[in-house]
Amino acid sequence: MIEYIHINFTKTHERKAYRRICLDCGKKSVFVAFFQEWYGWDTTCLRCGRSWADGEWMPLEFYRYARKDSISSARKRWKRGIDYNKERINEED
Ligand SMILES: [Zn+2]
Repeated sequence: MIEYIHINFTKTHERKAYRRICLDCGKKSVFVAFFQEWYGWDTTCLRCGRSWADGEWMPLEFYRYARKDSISSARKRWKRGIDYNKERINEED
């Protein structure tokens, strides 16, 4: 008997980077933002690592270097681009 597992993931449709004064660290900073259907804009401050999900302030995880990890994951996501998942699916074919 063959069983199928369906894995659903949201595709990033759009991304942008801009400068603005961060509400968390209070300094002018670069933000990267990614738009996903149903979830809206996921924005991260590259100075302090604070993120907002569709405009809602998101708590940071409680461990050492959580801000640093948040910044590095946002940078990696930016470098992967918006067609990251599409490329991965094509590699598996
Ligand atoms: Zn900030």
